Amino acid sequence: MKFASRLVSFDPAPGDRYRPIATPIYQTATFEQEHADEFGEYDYSRSGNPTRTVLEKHLASLENGTRGFCFSSGMAAITTTTKLLRSGDDILADSDLYGGTCRLFTKVLEKTGISARYADAANLEQFAQQIRPETKLVYVETPTNPLLRVLDLRKLAEIAHANGAILCVDNSTMSPYLQNPLDLGADIVLHSATKYLGGHHDVTAGAIVVKDEELAKQVYFIQNAEGNGLSPFDCFLLLRGIKTLKLRVDCQQRNALTIAKFLASHPDVKKVYYPGLADHPGYELQRSQARGSGGVLSFTTGSVEVSKTVAELTKLFRITVSFGSVNSSISLPGNMSHASVPPQVLAQRDLPADLVRISVGIEDEEDLIADLDQALQVATGKTLAASTR
Ligand SMILES: *Cc1c(COP(=O)(O)O)cnc(C)c1O
Repeated sequence: MKFASRLVSFDPAPGDRYRPIATPIYQTATFEQEHADEFGEYDYSRSGNPTRTVLEKHLASLENGTRGFCFSSGMAAITTTTKLLRSGDDILADSDLYGGTCRLFTKVLEKTGISARYADAANLEQFAQQIRPETKLVYVETPTNPLLRVLDLRKLAEIAHANGAILCVDNSTMSPYLQNPLDLGADIVLHSATKYLGGHHDVTAGAIVVKDEELAKQVYFIQNAEGNGLSPFDCFLLLRGIKTLKLRVDCQQRNALTIAKFLASHPDVKKVYYPGLADHPGYELQRSQARGSGGVLSFTTGSVEVSKTVAELTKLFRITVSFGSVNSSISLPGNMSHASVPPQVLAQRDLPADLVRISVGIEDEEDLIADLDQALQVATGKTLAASTR
């Protein structure tokens, strides 16, 4: 079956005699046992819940894995991945990571005796040299956020495996519709399902999918032991959101490409970062490992003041952290989503202070372009400031 069909064709309620089309919310903490000396399929919702099982199986299938696990947030999924390591182990991560991931790696993990180091994973040779015998986890996102650098997942998997480490890929910016890291050699793919999978910014959730059964057992053990599995109601919302993933992302990336081209030819825009533009350095690599470039892009204006004003003057692009919703959003990553990155890590990156990141929604592209255009004109003083907002 093709992806669009797979999104909606799954058993929503295995074994349910009423045969509902939507997955029921099994809002129960415990399940009655038939015998005093043996458990049934479910006993306690922290350990397993039928609504969550449907979602986890569905996600495992969409990412071409064997087992999936859903968590209360993307950060909970990432935390679970780090629990596969022990004191003395080392994480080597790309230098352009989601701010919250950096904060977790740097400020929380250091207390546990696990080290995290950062290097430019686009420079494969130098990155490989940074691996140490204690490096057990190689951790990347691609395209990175907010600089939209494209990393070679096949090569990174080889580098990790040659050194006895596993590769974990945060696939939040792409979603399983556009990229399947497990097929490219990754051992773990994870998502902030809050973004494209949910798609409506009405649920906070995370997911992990693996192929290897031994890894799956460890992840399940941690999910149950720590109690960070996703609640039945949030599983229901995510199941509903996922059904329209392809429709949303098709529209979002069509809009994103049109906007990227518009910005690239705009006199008040200095540089556009979007791997769907043919002059982007990662254009070919992106085409070789993904089926599109997604709906997130960023640009610079040459002035922090102009960038800030653009963000404040757009009306359809609302100032919010996060991305992946049906609504367009705009942010200044230096001030917002990446404010949690420790200064010494931030210094390693070339994050322009005037960088504006947009996440393109499903609105009409003409309205979105007109909105950005008016904001740019006013911000650069070409039109008198409109007092309406
Ligand atoms: C948002 C995000 C996270 C964290 O996910 P939450 O659901 O907010 O906990 C992790 N990775 C990336 C790339 C993100 O964008």
